[in-house]
Amino acid sequence: MAPTPKWVEKITEKVWAEHGRGEPPNVVWRESKTKNGASGHCLYSGRRIVVTMGVTNYWDGTSIKTKVTKADVLDAKITLLHELAHALTPHHNHDATFYKMMAMLCRENGVKKTETLDHGKSRGYYRSMRRGWLDTMPSKTATPA
Ligand SMILES: [Zn+2]
Repeated sequence: MAPTPKWVEKITEKVWAEHGRGEPPNVVWRESKTKNGASGHCLYSGRRIVVTMGVTNYWDGTSIKTKVTKADVLDAKITLLHELAHALTPHHNHDATFYKMMAMLCRENGVKKTETLDHGKSRGYYRSMRRGWLDTMPSKTATPA
């Protein structure tokens, strides 16, 4: 098991200070040696989050090597924010409330909308993610009270 990077602890603490109640979830950080793309899950109603950061494989002219690129770190960051959004919206699974929370957390933690949409495209939740961003916008049709 990899030590949890400082930036992961910082994001978790920031998100929890701004949105959470009670103790923040315990984040278990893993780094795959071979797998492309990050994966994550959220357990025990948000008490425990497991994120596995993926790697990029490349050919160095002799053999296949792996390295962690900026894209791998961004991928893992979005995955972490996805799992934190689950921890903050228990029982919502992947509904509109969840994606609105995820979009908010991404915006507040320096992840661009386009980056989350690309992430969603590669994992089949593009439309829900786009909807989530729309739901964070103030409604244009709402009349002031
Ligand atoms: Zn999920």
